[in-house]
Amino acid sequence: PASMTIDLHAHSVFSDGTDTPGEVMACALAAGVTTVAIVDHDTTDGWATAEADRPDGVTLVRGAELSTHVVVDGRRFSIHLLAYLFSPSVTGIAVEMARLRADRLQRGLAIVGRMVDAGVPISAAQVLDIAGGAPVGRPHIGRALMERGLVGSVTEAFSSYLSARGPFYVSKADTPLDRAIALVRDAGGVPVIAHSRSRGAAAVTDEAFFARYAEAGLMGVEVDHPDHDAAARIDLRRIASKYRLIMTGSSDYHGTNKTVSIGQETTAAEELAAILAGASGGVGVLGPVR
Ligand code: AMP
Ligand code: FE
Ligand code: FE
Ligand code: ZN
Repeated sequence: PASMTIDLHAHSVFSDGTDTPGEVMACALAAGVTTVAIVDHDTTDGWATAEADRPDGVTLVRGAELSTHVVVDGRRFSIHLLAYLFSPSVTGIAVEMARLRADRLQRGLAIVGRMVDAGVPISAAQVLDIAGGAPVGRPHIGRALMERGLVGSVTEAFSSYLSARGPFYVSKADTPLDRAIALVRDAGGVPVIAHSRSRGAAAVTDEAFFARYAEAGLMGVEVDHPDHDAAARIDLRRIASKYRLIMTGSSDYHGTNKTVSIGQETTAAEELAAILAGASGGVGVLGPVR
């Protein structure tokens, strides 16, 4: 298509979204989005289904969203790293994602265990059934709470039962950010920091942070995201220009697990072109490029 509408951050049932990859792309098409990236948490298991179910007219960018952390002044902060067009068969990243998925399972079970011990009427079997084999995330536990009528939505569960400051929270054994960046680059992918100014991450993602990680191989920053206010976007745009980072804009669509719409935030065509130019793992986009 002559004009592209690009959304580079969506989740499917292969992680904590509620749409199949085919449904994500159909939803994109219906919303006028021509290019969509499916970036499930810590897995590329949805890539094959996404490729098989891609509708004509939708360009698919394959990727993943890795769970990482940084330690600042002895405190750990969770940072999500988007990884585009990396080769999923490169051992380093494949092994690390497998470790992250195993840890998500143990950690999800630990959170559910705390809830069960406190008398919350959900079960591990119920949560695993909801996850359906996908890497376990708090949204799956949120749906279990919803099924039991304990909350009205997954978003509501995040402000109570699932809160990182609540009694049931257990953290994940994420990858150090500099190591995650190196793994993505080693697999020929393009690493982009996701929603850096949302929630806890905002406290540590200042200009010095981006200067440091740009030096370590970071290639981009998600500037436009539903969690970012106008001031955050202006600041991130300035930082991205200064350190020559690719600037993306994306919805972080999760189907009905979140209230955002696909295409709510978008990426400029030249920024996508920079991602394609920066990828070297032999994994291209699928579908029309212009
Ligand atoms: P976890 O990866 O298990 O720690 O869970 C975090 C995931 O839950 C992220 O991928 C978010 O997309 C999702 N999430 C975080 N906050 C909310 C919220 N307020 N409402 C719905 N989903 C959320
Ligand atoms: Fe998510
Ligand atoms: Fe994220
Ligand atoms: Zn995401």
